[in-house]
Amino acid sequence: MKNAATSTGRVFLVGAGPGDPDLLTLRAARLVMQAELIVHDGLVDPAILAMAKPSARLISVAKRRSRHTMPQDGINALLVSEALAGNDVIRLKGGDPFIFGRGGEEAEACHAAGVPVEVVPGITSALGAAAAAQIPLTHRRDASIVSFVAGQCKGLTEQDWAGLAGKGRTLVIFMGVATAPDIAEKLMADGLAPDTPVAVIENATRSQMRVLRGPLAGLPELVERERVKSPALIVIGDVAAEPENELRNLVLDTHRMETEQ
Ligand code: SAH
Repeated sequence: MKNAATSTGRVFLVGAGPGDPDLLTLRAARLVMQAELIVHDGLVDPAILAMAKPSARLISVAKRRSRHTMPQDGINALLVSEALAGNDVIRLKGGDPFIFGRGGEEAEACHAAGVPVEVVPGITSALGAAAAAQIPLTHRRDASIVSFVAGQCKGLTEQDWAGLAGKGRTLVIFMGVATAPDIAEKLMADGLAPDTPVAVIENATRSQMRVLRGPLAGLPELVERERVKSPALIVIGDVAAEPENELRNLVLDTHRMETEQ
């Protein structure tokens, strides 16, 4: 997809969905299979990267808490410089590019440099995880509001979550594994009942997916005991309650059928 030497390439901000390659949009799958250059973050499943042509250049800009990572400015500069050199760039991001994905910043950097951008939506992990765990985020019986919040350390204490969780409401927390104790404390200080149901969904839609449940007050212990690792989402509210036995067996049976295939 290299353009004539004089023309600028395009940047495609593409959502890769929650993990399972079957959950890519057709547009995302086509772009990945045709790409000459893919710039991806750490959440993109290796099975999706394996769909690229053998000749494609793959550049990882993975974010890891403890390791040196390419700063956002560096990623923006990489996208812009490749496009200005005439290359089309597939910028592949976990979930949806505009949900906690810094896709907005990358689009702004491209616009500022005169680089054309197309955004391809993806299934955000919040929706993919809830579907895979069979947690209806807005079950009519339990919730008519759903909020997505970021739970990482930076700025957690300044964030005002009052009113986002509680009766009739579902709260989905991204990037909250490391700060689970602070999150539980913050919500209970806001008046949330300690027995409010919580579900932690780890590695949603991947073969190692786990769904762990318990009361809000037990969240820190649950995360610690089960050694929950990123990526994981925390769902808080009545929709996260343990399903009735009958339903749970059905969910497990479906899963078993799939893994036996
Ligand atoms: N743009 C992404 C979110 C990026 S922020 C999206 O729309 O999903 C990264 C956070 O997303 C992780 O810390 C985790 O909370 C969540 N996440 C991404 N993929 C996940 C998965 N497969 N299972 C559980 N959580 C996931």
